[in-house]
Amino acid sequence: MTDAPASTPESIGFRAEIRQLLNILVHSLYTDREIFLRELISNASDALNRYQFTALTQHDLRDAEAELAIRITGDTAAHTLTIADSGVGMTREELIENLGTIAHSGAATFLKSLEEGQKVADLIGQFGVGFYAVFMVADEVRVTSLSYRPEATAWTWIASGGENYTLEPAEKAERGTRIEIKLKDDAHDFAEAWRLREIIHKHSDFVSFPIYLGDEAQAVNRQTALWREPGSKITAEAAADFYKQLTLDFNPPLTYAHLNTDAPVQISALLFVPGSAERGMFSLRKDHGLKLYSRKVLIQEYAKDLLPNYLRFVEGVVESEDVPLSVSRETVQTTRVMERIKNALTHKLLDTLKELAVKDAETYAKFWKQFGPFIKEGMATDPTAREKLTPVLRFYSSRPGAGEALTSLAEYVGRMDATQRTIYYLLGDDLKSVAHSPHLDLFRQQNLEVLYLVDPLDSFMLTGLPTYEGYELKSADDPSLDLPRREASPEAEVVPDAEFDALTARFKEQLGDRIAGVRATDRLVDNALRLVAPDDAKGHEMDRVRRLLEKDFTVPPKMVELNRQHPLIRNLAGRLAANPADPLAGEVIEQLFESALLVEGLLPNPAAMVGRIQKLMEAATRAG
Ligand code: ADP
Repeated sequence: MTDAPASTPESIGFRAEIRQLLNILVHSLYTDREIFLRELISNASDALNRYQFTALTQHDLRDAEAELAIRITGDTAAHTLTIADSGVGMTREELIENLGTIAHSGAATFLKSLEEGQKVADLIGQFGVGFYAVFMVADEVRVTSLSYRPEATAWTWIASGGENYTLEPAEKAERGTRIEIKLKDDAHDFAEAWRLREIIHKHSDFVSFPIYLGDEAQAVNRQTALWREPGSKITAEAAADFYKQLTLDFNPPLTYAHLNTDAPVQISALLFVPGSAERGMFSLRKDHGLKLYSRKVLIQEYAKDLLPNYLRFVEGVVESEDVPLSVSRETVQTTRVMERIKNALTHKLLDTLKELAVKDAETYAKFWKQFGPFIKEGMATDPTAREKLTPVLRFYSSRPGAGEALTSLAEYVGRMDATQRTIYYLLGDDLKSVAHSPHLDLFRQQNLEVLYLVDPLDSFMLTGLPTYEGYELKSADDPSLDLPRREASPEAEVVPDAEFDALTARFKEQLGDRIAGVRATDRLVDNALRLVAPDDAKGHEMDRVRRLLEKDFTVPPKMVELNRQHPLIRNLAGRLAANPADPLAGEVIEQLFESALLVEGLLPNPAAMVGRIQKLMEAATRAG
């Protein structure tokens, strides 16, 4: 190529990869095509940033006085759209290189992922495809550019999505780039001012250069980056407003955290805990992850490496000067910087939650209801997180009058008396049934508090919580617990050994291999019978979950424990002693067993007991 390029139009072939990309985009039926504008605005913003940077060191620049801005004009009659910026512009060589030769990193990744079988629409949505996204809406694109270099002349690059593009000399007096788009028939709405305004608000509101619409003198975008402001300037209202802009969530966030720090990495961040774990149907956020900016440029729309997975419900924006701008949008990797940002954000967020729990228990309870499962997942799956997460855990408990009030482990331990060495819990299906559990008899009598774990995730969580502050966590139904002795009631009589042996034999005969065995216990007070895991059982705490997850799972047989002081057991033993063939004994044993299964949440068909209960009532009324 000579120094003096031809001044007549010249047709040049696209590089093969770009041709392939264009072919896909031209025929794309992707519904969120509006993101093409985000890509063009982002390029314009890049070009303006580069101009600003260049102006720091060079002085001989074209149009040094021109305002750094982006102007977008739609013509609804001509069905055209123009995006103009006063950025660095491009020379003829740069037009060829940037728009015809270099397959930018996005395009390369796009094609590669496509080969790996990902869907076109997913890929476009995820990271756009830069400048070429415009071909989703354009029949023809004309890029006219004048470089900031004083000796450069203006050129126009024209393409229609085919194999070639055309270059021709242009008339353009001002520095920068103007992109004129002839809209496809099905894309005419992109010339409408309201539509453009909506898209700009949605995707480019925080671009730091003014974006003007048509000949308006007032910028459409708000430009200010709230997260960069000092904490004292961020009011709860402003934060909530920003959250709405970011997510289109109509409900305010439950809480937010603002982070502005320079060490060990520079970070400005605004993080939100949404009001609900459900992402609304109209949410702008199509995926989880934080918006990552570096030097005012959006690097990633859904950065997933900035928070641990269990905090994926958090929405927000993070900006860090230390994330290199050269890092392209698709390949932000888990570098050291990212790791540090992640640590700082996680720390800040958990601190905010801890504070919230102290300052506003009611809101914290809402948080726990919505997002507790995520925290429990973190406990179970991320060993490095356990220490940080334990303080934000909350539990229902058996303390008198607690109802549905929550307690932390620290509060539980604070209520223990000096002799208690263990933290007790009981797994169950819901608060009502757990509260009636026979396993609590002795705990009630001895004023020992028990945590109620009634969420299916709780057994997973427990795998990550063997101890707290040196106290072991143990299940209240564990027969091997070392508990204070039961206070015998003065009138209590105990079933004599011989009668009791006959009784256990009758239980075994009746229940067969549905049970692992029968024995006496001194853990029961008000209840006659309870079911516990047999001595050789392992991991029976997962039974509850397995029953939910595995269709064919049946809970292995339990050990039956009897209260030898209970009137029912005494009466039954007495009846059997008088008449070993007592026909009522079988029915009573069945009913005791099924009632116990019921409170354990293990009875598959509770209605089946109705007939038996009727028979037993008949017998009871007859005797009376
Ligand atoms: P990317 O922006 O990811 O590099 P694009 O395909 O969007 O990829 O753009 C390719 C290149 O074209 C950019 O890197 C930039 O050098 C140049 N470019 C695009 N738009 C403009 C613009 N408005 N002003 C100056 N240069 C631009």
